[in-house]
Amino acid sequence: MTPVIALVGRPNVGKSTLFNQMTRSRDALVADFPGLTRDRKYGEGNYEGQKFIVIDTGGLTGDEAGIDAEMARQSLQAVEEADIVLFLVDGRAGLTAGDEMIADYLRKSGKQAHLVVNKTDGQDPDVAAADFYRLGFESTFLIAAAHNRGILSLLETLLPEPVDPEEQDRADRYPGIRIGVVGRPNVGKSTLVNRMLGEDRVVVYDMPGTTRDSVYIPYERQGHQYTLIDTAGVRRRKNVRETVEKFSIIKTLQAIDDAHVVILVIDAREGLVDQDLHLIGFVLDAGRSLVIAVNKWDGMDPEDRGRVKEQVARRLDFLDYADKYYISALHGTGVGTMYESVQACYESAMAKWPTNRLTAILQDAVAQHQPPMVHGRRIKLRYAHQGGSNPPVVVVHGNQVDSLPGAYKRYLENTFRKVLKVVGAPIRFEFRSGE
Ligand code: GDP
Ligand code: GDP
Repeated sequence: MTPVIALVGRPNVGKSTLFNQMTRSRDALVADFPGLTRDRKYGEGNYEGQKFIVIDTGGLTGDEAGIDAEMARQSLQAVEEADIVLFLVDGRAGLTAGDEMIADYLRKSGKQAHLVVNKTDGQDPDVAAADFYRLGFESTFLIAAAHNRGILSLLETLLPEPVDPEEQDRADRYPGIRIGVVGRPNVGKSTLVNRMLGEDRVVVYDMPGTTRDSVYIPYERQGHQYTLIDTAGVRRRKNVRETVEKFSIIKTLQAIDDAHVVILVIDAREGLVDQDLHLIGFVLDAGRSLVIAVNKWDGMDPEDRGRVKEQVARRLDFLDYADKYYISALHGTGVGTMYESVQACYESAMAKWPTNRLTAILQDAVAQHQPPMVHGRRIKLRYAHQGGSNPPVVVVHGNQVDSLPGAYKRYLENTFRKVLKVVGAPIRFEFRSGE
C-alpha cells in the first residue's frame, strides 16, 4: 500500500512549499498537459524507492463554519484516511489560536499527528519550537521547507521501511487486465460496475478490503481475465438501496495507481466539470491509460447531446489519443464496446519495443524534421530505448537535449504514438545528454 501523508495547518504556514518539495522529484517526470486545470493539492513523491501520496488539505483555518465547512469536511476526510498526518505550524509567527483549534480537533479525532515546526531558518530552531511544545504532541520535527531543510530526515523517520517488492506490487496479485472505474459521486460508477459484471460474466471471487480501499473483483469475459477496481463500493453494499459510500479521493488515487486502464465516468447531464478535469489530471500524472465514458446518454435530446459532444471535443482536445464512449450504464448501451478500447489500451501500456525499432522511428522523425540549433550547434538525437511500461517510457539519448523545445517534444510524441499505434496511454519521454 502506498502510504498517504496529509498536510494540515493554517494558511501561510508553508504547506504548499512543503508539498512542492515532497513531490518535486516526481514533477520533473510529468509532462505539461495544455488545457488542463490542475489541482496541486494531491501529488506523489518518492523517497529512496518508497512511493507515497501527499495531500495538502489546504482548507483548515481552525475556525470552520459557513462556506468553509464543505471544504473543511473534505480536508477532515483526508485526515481520517491518511496514514501519516503532519500538522504544520509557523515557527516565526509562534503559536496562534487557530493552531490550538486544529490541534484540538486532531486530538479528538484520535488520529496520531506529528507536529512540524516550519520556517526555522534564520533563528535558533529550539527557540522557534519552544512555544509549540505545550500542544502536547509526541513527536516534533523542525524544518525549513523553503530551504529543503529537515524534510528528508522527516521522511526517513516517518515512512515505513521500503516494503519488499512483492508487497509493493500488491496489485499484481489480481489476474488479467486491471480496470479502474473512477469518477465523481453520482456519475453512475456503481451502475456501470454492475453492468460490466452482468449476468453472463463469471465472478471468480470477491476480495474484502478496508473502507479506504476499493474492492477488487476478478472476473472473466469472453475468455479474457479482468479485475475490476470498484471505487464505488458496489460489492460491499448489502443491497442496492444502501447509501453510496462517501467519495474518497485517496481511494480514487489508489485505484488509478493499481490499474492498467482507467475508465473515467462523466455525467452527460452535468457536462464536463472541473472535478472531472482534476481526475483526468490524476490519471495522466500516474501515467495510466484512459478511456472516457460519457454516461447517462439515454433519453437526452439531440440538442443537448450536440452540446456535450462539442464540449468534450473542445475541453479534452489534448486527449485526442484516448477513446471516448457515449453510453448508458443503466440500459447497457455501449458498455460492451468499451472492452475493445480496454484491450487496446492495455496492449499499449504494456507493449515492449526493441531498441532498434525505437531508434529507427527517432531517426526517421529527425530526418523529416530537424531539431533546432542552439548556440550555433544543432541539437542531436541519436538513439532511443524503452525505459518502462504502464506508462510506456521512451528514453531518448542525444546532445543539448535540455534545450529541446516543447513543440519538438510534442512532435516526437505524436510521431511515436502514430507509428507504434499507442492508444489511451500517455507516452512519457526522458531525454538524456551524452558527452
Ligand atoms: P500554505 O498557505 O500553508 O500553503 O503556505 P505557503 O507554502 O504558501 O507558504 C506561505 C509563505 O511562507 C510563502 O511566502 C513561503 O515562501 C513562506 N515559507 C514557506 N516555507 C518557509 C520556510 O521554510 N522559511 C521561510 N522563511 N519562509 C517560508
Ligand atoms: P455513483 O455514485 O457514481 O456510483 O453513481 P450511481 O451508479 O449510484 O448512479 C447515480 C444515479 O444515476 C442513480 O440514480 C442511477 O440510477 C443513475 N444512473 C446511472 N447510470 C445511468 C444512466 O446511464 N442513465 C440514467 N438515466 N441514469 C443513470
